[in-house]
Parts: sequence; C-alpha cells; structure tokens
Amino acid sequence: MPCVNFDEISKYIDLPASARQLLEVPEQQIIANLNIRTHTDGVLAAKAYVVYYNTARGPAKGGIRLAEDVTLDETTELSERMTWKTALVRIPFGGGKSGIAIAPKKMSLFERNELVREFVHIMNRELTSSAYIPAPDLGSNAGDMAIIYGQTHQLESVTGKPPRVGGLPGREHATGRGVAYITKRSLQEFLNRDVKNATVAIQGFGNVGGWTANFLHEWGARIVAVSDVSGGIVKKDGLDIPSVQDYCRKNGSLEGYSADRVSNEGLLAAEADVLIPAAVGHVLNDRTAPKVKAKLVIEGANGPTTAEADEIMTSNSTLVMPDILANAGGVVASYIEWRNAKSGSITHKEEVFEAIEHILEDAFQEVVSTAKKHGIQHRLGAEVIAVDEVVRAMNDRGWT
Ligand code: NAD
Repeated sequence: MPCVNFDEISKYIDLPASARQLLEVPEQQIIANLNIRTHTDGVLAAKAYVVYYNTARGPAKGGIRLAEDVTLDETTELSERMTWKTALVRIPFGGGKSGIAIAPKKMSLFERNELVREFVHIMNRELTSSAYIPAPDLGSNAGDMAIIYGQTHQLESVTGKPPRVGGLPGREHATGRGVAYITKRSLQEFLNRDVKNATVAIQGFGNVGGWTANFLHEWGARIVAVSDVSGGIVKKDGLDIPSVQDYCRKNGSLEGYSADRVSNEGLLAAEADVLIPAAVGHVLNDRTAPKVKAKLVIEGANGPTTAEADEIMTSNSTLVMPDILANAGGVVASYIEWRNAKSGSITHKEEVFEAIEHILEDAFQEVVSTAKKHGIQHRLGAEVIAVDEVVRAMNDRGWT
C-alpha cells in the first residue's frame, strides 16, 4: 500500500492510469540473508533489504536502517518517501532505501564492520553500479559509510561518509539543519513568532534530533524536552543542549542525565510551541495525537504521523510540516557530496548550509502556496507537487 493517497492527489494533477499503476508498487525489492562469523566462532545472521521505489528521476537514493525490527514493508515505505522527497526538492535522485534487521547496540564494533562488509559483498552490483546510493539512517552512521566506501573503492557509491574519508563537511548536521530551518520558517509563517524564545520538544536525540536541538538552541529557542530510546528529560526554562549533547556523546544515551524525566509518550504531550518527532515512525497515532499540545509539528523522522493522527491534529488546529519537506536537508547535502565525488569539487560547511536553506525555502514556499491554492493540508500539498514531478519525469522517459 503506497503511503500517499493517489485518489486524493489525482484531484489536483493529471495522473494517468499508466503512471499510477507504476507508482503503486516498488520497481524492485531485493532480499538477502547476511551471515558472518562472530569472534566467539558463532554465526550471526540477519536479513537485509534493498528497495528501489522509483528511479525515473535518477539513481535510488536512501539511507540504510539498522534496526532489529526492520522489515521489507518498512523499507519499501521508506523508499517511497525518498521518491517524493527527492522530487519535492528537485534533487536528481530517485527513491530507495535499505535495511538490515539487526540491533546495532547488541553487536561489537568488529561484528558490525563485518556485517556491513557482508552487506556490500552481497549487494555489490547495486552499490558499484550506483544503482543504489546509501547514506546513514536510523541506527547507522558515518563510520558504516566509510566501511562501504572501503569495500566499493568508489567515492560516489555512498554519501554521509566522514569528511576525512571523502565525506562532506556539514553532511552530519544537514538533516537537523533543515529541520531547524523549517521550524524557524513555520514559526514565522504560521504563528507570527520568532524562533527566539519559542519552546520546542524533540523526540529522538540521535543525528537528526541532536543537531536540530543544537541549531534551534543556537538560534535562541528554548528546548524544553528531549528524549531517546531510554526516555526523556524536561526543563521548563530550556535545557542546556551543548551539555546534554556532551553527556550523550560520553555516555551513549540520555540515561542518568541530571534533569526531571518524562516518558517518550509524555514528551509528545509536552507544553511547547513546537513538537519535533525525530526518532521512529508512527509515534503520533490515534492514541497519542489527541494529547498533542504543540501548535506546530515538524516531522524530523520519516513517517512519524499516522493518517488517523493527521486527521485528529487537523481538527485540533495543529499544523504539520511533512517529513518529505522538513527532513530533506540530508538528501540535499548527500547530493552535494555525490556531485563532489564525481567532479572532484570541494564545498565548505557554510555553503552546504546555504544550499540547504535555499532549496528548502523554495520547497517551503511552493508547499505553502499549493496548500493555500487548493485549500488542502501541507502534507497533501507537498505530495501533489512531488507526485506531479515524478509523473512528468516518467513521461519524459517514455515510461507512461
Ligand atoms: P539515529 O540512530 O542517529 O538516532 C535515533 C534516535 O532515536 C536515538 O536518540 C535513539 O535513542 C532514538 N530512538 C530510537 N528508538 C526510539 C523509540 N522507540 N522511542 C524514542 N526514541 C527512540 O537516527 P537518525 O539518523 O537521527 O534518524 C532519526 C529519524 O530521522 C529516522 O526516522 C530517520 O529515518 C529520519 N531521517 C534521518 C536522516 C539522516 O540524515 N540521518 C535523514 C532524513 C530522515
């Protein structure tokens, strides 16, 4: 089941039946069984998935999720979201994703590196032909991307590498930078508020949540709650984010940080102007959405809001900025990293941030004006633009 509603979308664009037929299913799904030897001479086995949802606009781009419960269905849904995201921000990539069903925290570094090497070995054709270009996602990081590069020997085969290993300065911060920027713009546009002194609660304190918190804190917002898988912390006057980040870096999680505690579900109901889910999918659902007090929800995570929650929040006048817009800063930076790998160019961190803000500003304005023009929610507005872009690309290529 696609995550967008083509019946709704076709009310606003020309969506020929032939195009819709191609967009209702992924182009390709690959399942593999990875097996490695552990250093205790046991065998560690994990399922791996690579999905290309649609490649009309370019090679399949999307992160690698390392999570015990990742499935083919989830990987497919995430690859579909990447298709719409790259189209919305007009980056010449298609939508892809991969997943390895393993709990990264339960493995030694040695085992983790072996597993990533095995992934490259099995998916060699996808990775060395640049048919699929991975990047970090939930559970994976720049170090894993360095291992992939080490196996393929092709700089452009993977993005999100450490800057010392052909990566892009600012790629690590890029998704959070974009989420923070969309938060700032949404506060101005919809609440007529400056980011300074706005109150923000963030679920997830990894790459996306951590850097989003960092930039918003720098811009003067008060981050009143953050959480990770171990639970959350709250402070009405605002948390000292650099000290929280420091603590997390040293201790691996928020557990034990000296502050009042809140559960992950409690965080979603925090008294704040803005709520940013930046961890896992479907956390805003028919049970949690009625309790949301924030006036703005900015989706840092992929797919944090169910369709039921969307309806509930709309009827409560909570405005949602969709993932395919809000967290697109990462893929913008990935594109620059990929382009540099092919051309030998160098881009500085500040230029990367400028590019992210420029591209997201254009997309933000287009989403806001499309939603206004048709009297629809921003999520549907973003999907209308993105699907139209993909349909036109398929038409250009003679696919429909
Ligand atoms: P990460 O692994 O760096 O961090 C994930 C964070 O979420 C950690 O703090 C972890 O403890 C927390 N978490 C995990 N399970 C949780 C749970 N059940 N409840 C609450 N917190 C939980 O991952 P990330 O790269 O920051 O990705 C987070 C989200 O953002 C994912 O949905 C991912 O798909 C999306 N995303 C990531 C990027 C990127 O560039 N990394 C780009 C776009 C979207």
